[in-house]
Amino acid sequence: LDVIRAVEPRVADAIGQEVADQREMLKLIASENYASPATLLAMGNWFSDKYAEGTVGRRFYAGCRNVDTVESLAAEHAKELFGARHAYVQPHSGIDANLVAFWAVLADRVEAPFLEKTGVRQINDLSDADWAELRQAFGNQRMLGMSLDAGGHLTHGFRPNISGKMFDQRSYGTDPATGLIDYEALRATAREFKPLIIVAGYSAYPRLVNFRIMREIADEVGATLMVDMAHFAGLVAGKVLTGDFDPVPHAQIVTTTTHKSLRGPRGGMVLCDDSLKDQVDRGCPMVLGGPLPHVMAAKAVALAEARRPSFQDYARRIVDNSRALAEGLMRRGATLVTGGTDNHLNLIDVATSYGLTGRQAEAALLDSGIVTNRNAIPADPNGAWYTSGIRIGTPALTTRGLGTAEMDEVAGLIDRVLTTAEPGTTKSGAPSKASHVLDEKVADEIARRATDL
Ligand code: PLP
Repeated sequence: LDVIRAVEPRVADAIGQEVADQREMLKLIASENYASPATLLAMGNWFSDKYAEGTVGRRFYAGCRNVDTVESLAAEHAKELFGARHAYVQPHSGIDANLVAFWAVLADRVEAPFLEKTGVRQINDLSDADWAELRQAFGNQRMLGMSLDAGGHLTHGFRPNISGKMFDQRSYGTDPATGLIDYEALRATAREFKPLIIVAGYSAYPRLVNFRIMREIADEVGATLMVDMAHFAGLVAGKVLTGDFDPVPHAQIVTTTTHKSLRGPRGGMVLCDDSLKDQVDRGCPMVLGGPLPHVMAAKAVALAEARRPSFQDYARRIVDNSRALAEGLMRRGATLVTGGTDNHLNLIDVATSYGLTGRQAEAALLDSGIVTNRNAIPADPNGAWYTSGIRIGTPALTTRGLGTAEMDEVAGLIDRVLTTAEPGTTKSGAPSKASHVLDEKVADEIARRATDL
């Protein structure tokens, strides 16, 4: 830090404070983790200075032999770990990985057949009229993704995101009675809508997804099944999700982040079968900026870590802890969406349980040293900004070595904060969905206990 402090002390201070915060507070954000020192060191080095557009052995820049080494290693580890035919490790993040996947499917299923039909080899050789027709064909494609309030992600075809502007999107949701994905309703929508792509995967669904059924539905309607396993990649890597619940054998294309339950550097990755390999490998520069060799080096290290037997134990403990947290909360009277969990996350309905909005609950927990994020619940009466839910996940606390007994205590701390917190008012005295009131003594006492844990 002294090297940084000599140049810009405020950055050094912010880094120091961040380390302290991450050590002292309870990190329950379901998408966060603690990468290993080896991963962090592989990321912070001279590889950052190297340009490497292209793929291994086919670069647009000279001097890439060391980048080739780390990119091949990351791809090999990913293929072995997930049993995938092909791994593309260049995406800078999960959103970038999804863009690569959309582009690859469009290139494979819309562009390639059009070129074949017109007898032209390259898109640049199309006549203006044919190009106009192809562009229109791109614009007519459909995507079916999980609805946002059921736990889907913005990049799965939602209007504010570029994916919603690229595709005509329809969403599938969950059964209001059980909170679980309704596969028969999904099948009926797919039959009627006939999407090019069905996207499975989620940011806030506390249960398992049956990818065998999803593929069966995709095949029935001629769609490509894409799975965004950003959240649960660590559980797939750790062999907790196998058979019908492992997306890799079922989907034609799988995207992920590398920094969530997988515990690697911030980044993304695409796994696919042979039919999409060539298109996926063109991700940079068609969709992505130049690869980040330092991050690919860190991906190689983290994936090597995930191939160790101890990672399987880690993945199992993530789910044991998540279940223990769910049980501890429900025993204290909290309502959880779907009534529990089968994976690394839980969604607390704080409106029903504690009379708070997600925003109020999130702020009260932060005051008490517990870091979470608010999240919409199905048919959320408070909308996507204030929300009625709090999402909590166990990958980070599991990395820190906490077990099921501590999870029960964490459930007690969360329950105490949320029971004590009251909705706040605006300056004029009107009820506010954004503010809360919490006894400072309670907040301090819980924050101290959070640090001890
Ligand atoms: N996909 C899913 C399912 C996610 O939950 C997220 C992030 O939360 C992303 C993609 C985006 O990942 P990134 O922030 O790395 O772009």
